[in-house]
Amino acid sequence: RLYIKRQGWIEIICGGMFSGKSEELIRRIRRAKIAKLQVMAFKPAIDDRYHSEAIASHNGLIADAHPVSSATELMSLITSEVDVVAIDEVQFFEPEIVEVCQDLADQGKRVICAGLDQDFRGKPFGPTPLLLSVAEYVTKLQAICVKCGAPASRTQRLIDGRPAAVNDPVIQVGASEQYEARCRHCHELVV
Ligand code: ADP
Ligand code: ZN
Repeated sequence: RLYIKRQGWIEIICGGMFSGKSEELIRRIRRAKIAKLQVMAFKPAIDDRYHSEAIASHNGLIADAHPVSSATELMSLITSEVDVVAIDEVQFFEPEIVEVCQDLADQGKRVICAGLDQDFRGKPFGPTPLLLSVAEYVTKLQAICVKCGAPASRTQRLIDGRPAAVNDPVIQVGASEQYEARCRHCHELVV
């Protein structure tokens, strides 16, 4: 029987820091462009790791992205010609990003989100767990544990070189802060 396959779905790429989420998102963006699809990429305005107007991976790949300060602003920038919507660091958006992704997928757009699934404490991070449950396609990546070489699902937060405590403030003035990939067994959290 002849039928038209309907377009529109949500893909999510998750995992800890250094697991290759941005690398994989950039790869999918690139391939969509090769397929001559209209791609629009976004990132939260607060994330300015390397470039303010780009998605950047730790191994040096870059893709243009619009910094946005809310899910509503993201939605307002999307026109009917857009086929693919890519969102990096999706954990930093408010929960409304889930409805926005659902609406875009319902409208026939391919939505690709990348983000941390756990915070430095190993707890579900922001809207990512919600997106995991509604997405059609879930990719969970692992980094390499810097302590033991095992696959790493967690992100270790270090303050002045020492494991961070559960209640340490998110921004500590004057302290040096670092993140590294660790497996469940090497992950340390001061309580
Ligand atoms: P993410 O977006 O998940 O933080 P990136 O795509 O930015 O990850 O970076 C992935 C790249 O980071 C890898 O291809 C590798 O070159 C580099 N890298 C550095 N440290 C590690 C590590 N501990 N485990 C895996 N990759 C690492
Ligand atoms: Zn380990």
